[in-house]
This record gives sequence, C-alpha cells and structure tokens, in this order.
Amino acid sequence: MVPHEAPQYHKEAFNCPLCGAYATHQWHDHWSDPEDKGAGQLTTAQCLHCRMYSIWHRNRMLYPTSGAAPLPNADLPDEIKADYQEARSITSVSPRGAAALLRLAIEKLCNHLGAKGRNLNDQIGDLVEQGLDPLIQQSLDSVRVIGNEAVHPGQLDLKDDQETAATLFELVNLIAERMISYPKRVAETYGRLPESKKNAIEKRDKTNTETGCSA
Ligand SMILES: [Zn+2]
Repeated sequence: MVPHEAPQYHKEAFNCPLCGAYATHQWHDHWSDPEDKGAGQLTTAQCLHCRMYSIWHRNRMLYPTSGAAPLPNADLPDEIKADYQEARSITSVSPRGAAALLRLAIEKLCNHLGAKGRNLNDQIGDLVEQGLDPLIQQSLDSVRVIGNEAVHPGQLDLKDDQETAATLFELVNLIAERMISYPKRVAETYGRLPESKKNAIEKRDKTNTETGCSA
C-alpha cells in the first residue's frame, strides 16, 4: 500500500484532501492588504490532479474540514465507510468526535471480519493470529482503543486530539488493507491461474497436510 502523505503547509506534493490522489500542489498567497504583510493572509493550494483548491490560514487548513485525514479504503463495507467519512468531515473541528466515530468503526470492522473474542482487545488479538500486523494492535493500545485503559464506546476521552484521530484513520485503513484488500488481491491473482496450475498447487498443499509439512 502506498503510504499516505498528509497535506502540509507549502509542501510541494502530498495526498490531495479533496480527490485523495498523490499530486503536486500550487500554492498562492492572498493578502488582505498587499502593502502590509502582517495583515490577514489566506493561502490556497491547487491540486494539479483534480484542479480543486484547499484553503489555508497561515499553516492551518480551513477547507476541506477533513484536514489531513486520508480517504477510506475502498474495500470497507458501506456502513463503516459512512462512519469513517463522517469522522473525516469533522476531524479538524472536533478531533474527539472523530476519534469516537473511528472507535465505533473499528468495532464494526472487527464484527464484520468475524473476529472472535469477548471484547475488542481479544478480537484484535484474534485478527493478529489471522495475519494482522501486531504493531497495529500495539498502536490501538497506545491510543486507548483497546487494552486496559480503553474508553467505552460512545464515551469521549478528554485526551483525544488531532494526533489520535490521525492515527485512528490510518489504523482503520491498515486493518482493512490487511484483512480485506490483500486477501481479495491474492484470490484474484489465484483465480487468474490456469486450471492445471491450480490443480498442481492443490495437490501439493494436500500432500503437505498429509505429511505434516507446513512449508
Ligand atoms: Zn485533488
């Protein structure tokens, strides 16, 4: 997966907050009083891919309000995608609200994936056993989504901030990438193989199971 480059003031290229593409941006400063550079300044950045503008005041993005949050993974189920997009639309004005919605999205995602366990901590542990990177579990623990100090769904943690929300956006996408998109791509690649190859692979796997060889 190509890493998401967050928009940053006067950076030349990053993932566009409007179309999501990694693209060069053209920056323009607009002064309320061109004679007085200490006066109000608005800056626009035009994406050379979609041609749309983000609007900045000094180093803070005012529009779109999604700020630096990446677009959702395309393979997420619609209901979870809707929670994610709602979180994205409020993240610059209410990062705590966004973080609460993202926690909910992670719970729904675990249920959608059929993760086993009595609580979110166990469910994420189950996903790690199925191939999810253990670092994702540690990150979720560090932002208090799972683990002993996790807050309950719908309850806001006063310490949530922009950084927590930004981490949660990435983590939802990382879970979706590893547990949905990656297996889908593998299945697609396998599906394109000629029958003779597939038969040979199935025969080999069967032999390995019988001999107890796991390699
Ligand atoms: Zn764009």
